[in-house]
Amino acid sequence: MADRSVEMVEVGPRDGLQNESAVVATADKAELVRRAIAWGARRIEVTSFVNPKKVPQLADAEQLTALLPERDDVTYIGLVLNRRGAERALATGRIDELGAVCVTSDSFGIRNQGQDSDESLAAAMEIVALARSAGRTGQITIATAFGCPFEGEVAIARVVEMAKRAAEADPREIGLADTIGVGVPSQVGEMVGRVREAVGTLPIRVHFHNTRGSGLANVWAAVAEGAATVDASLGGLGGCPFAPGAAGNVATEDAVYMLERGGIATGLALPGVVAAAQWFTGVMGRPLPAMVSKAPPFPAPDR
Ligand code: ZN
Repeated sequence: MADRSVEMVEVGPRDGLQNESAVVATADKAELVRRAIAWGARRIEVTSFVNPKKVPQLADAEQLTALLPERDDVTYIGLVLNRRGAERALATGRIDELGAVCVTSDSFGIRNQGQDSDESLAAAMEIVALARSAGRTGQITIATAFGCPFEGEVAIARVVEMAKRAAEADPREIGLADTIGVGVPSQVGEMVGRVREAVGTLPIRVHFHNTRGSGLANVWAAVAEGAATVDASLGGLGGCPFAPGAAGNVATEDAVYMLERGGIATGLALPGVVAAAQWFTGVMGRPLPAMVSKAPPFPAPDR
């Protein structure tokens, strides 16, 4: 896979912090976004516009978006689950892209967002339409694409069918999310390949959690099959409060190390990511799961 590149989306401020029991100060979140821009991130999932009672960690969505640096070259993504969330996000004037989420199973959908699978897809398509009519972009992520905590295995055919329908809304891309971290590389490779066939030129983004240790391997398998974009969070922060046992996202620094050493450019500067991870460890007051930020640099920097 030499001479290739992938795009990284930094999801630490949203998916990362959503599942932390500690509520991080708005100023620290804004600093995290500034540091992400400094290390090269150009798409950042900054927050979600959901019920603050359900997700108190992100109750400061409006305050945070007001603090975001004004950068024409950076896309700020706000996650929304319905029309009301989309309207809130668009009203800030600072969110460039709406992230919409649909789910493969009715059981997870009802618990996560009060919608069954078909309703969640319809809502996601409406959110993309709202974004487009406001001159922004929308992405659709298919959550629990690799397995559901309540219904078990998810048929690839179901994911392919949802991706095909989602593509009709003209989103920026289709995301495939392993919400509970059960996917394995063989499954990921097949899924990415079949969804790519189904959606033509529409790019594929992948989102993995490292719950069972297969996160990085899944990133590699997805990129090998042509995924254009990879979600990751600083330090491996993250999880989902509505997904039992969900652990952190794939760590940005671990993914960047693996991809860059494998000849795949990410556009991110690893030393900046590592320095930020060390700073954010202090903010959280506990070690973060990522490994590369705890290891000596390799190759050793020139002196
Ligand atoms: Zn996630």
